[in-house]
Parts: sequence; C-alpha cells; structure tokens
Amino acid sequence: MLTCSKTYKDIPFAHRQPLHEGHCSKIHGHNWSITLEFQASELDKNGFVVDFGKLKYIKAFIDSTLDHACLFSKDDAIIGDLANSSYGDLFNICWVENASCEGIALFLYETFSKLIKENEGERVSIKTITLHEDAKNFVTYTP
Ligand SMILES: [Zn+2]
Repeated sequence: MLTCSKTYKDIPFAHRQPLHEGHCSKIHGHNWSITLEFQASELDKNGFVVDFGKLKYIKAFIDSTLDHACLFSKDDAIIGDLANSSYGDLFNICWVENASCEGIALFLYETFSKLIKENEGERVSIKTITLHEDAKNFVTYTP
C-alpha cells in the first residue's frame, strides 16, 4: 500500500490538564505540528494518494479553529466559568473531550477524517495522525 504524509508545522495554541498535579494544569502553549499519513484504496487520475494542493480545507480548519486558540476539556469547570465571564473574549476556545496531547490527536483525527470523507470520498483515509507538542514530545494515533 502506498501512503503519503503532509505536515502542518508551528501552529500556536494553548491547552491545560485540569487534573494534572504538576505544571500541566496551568494554561500554557506550544507550537504544535500535525502530520497526517494518508492511505488510498487506489491512486487518483494523477497517480496521487491525495492531492496536497486540494487539502486547503485542512489548512482552513487549522487557521480558523486552532491557530492562537485554547483547546480545553469540555468538563473543565473553571474554564467554563472563565469563558462565561467578562474575560471570555480573551480566549478563542475550542472545546474537546480531553485536552491532553492524546485527546487532541483523537479530536483532530475525527475532525480531519470527516473532512477527508466529505472532500475525497471513500477512496482516501487517514492511516495515522501524529501530533507534536514540541520537538521532544508527540503522540501518534493509528485507528
Ligand atoms: Zn502542554
């Protein structure tokens, strides 16, 4: 099977782990990188797994939802109070099930898989997604 990969680098956004006993409970940011590995049941008419030039909907999602945003867990009550206060406008919040690197990778897999299906049909799917917090720490999800 042929695969191809596309990486989106240096996407600044913040998160926090409300239950963590260390510094991860504080709101903090990283310059995240996302690598999507695509697989296809057959190549397209150009001989591509996926045409990188047609993935603008992925970049559009990153720019509109992740860039300079805060990804917080849906059950983070303190952030919920903050979001509903007069300070709520300070944050571009994207709520996820769990704002760990692992949870964000799952969220991005589900989001991008839906977009890929809408735009590419059944021929192409995401084989793996790798989410880098920084140069040292990353998570890979393979469904
Ligand atoms: Zn972090």
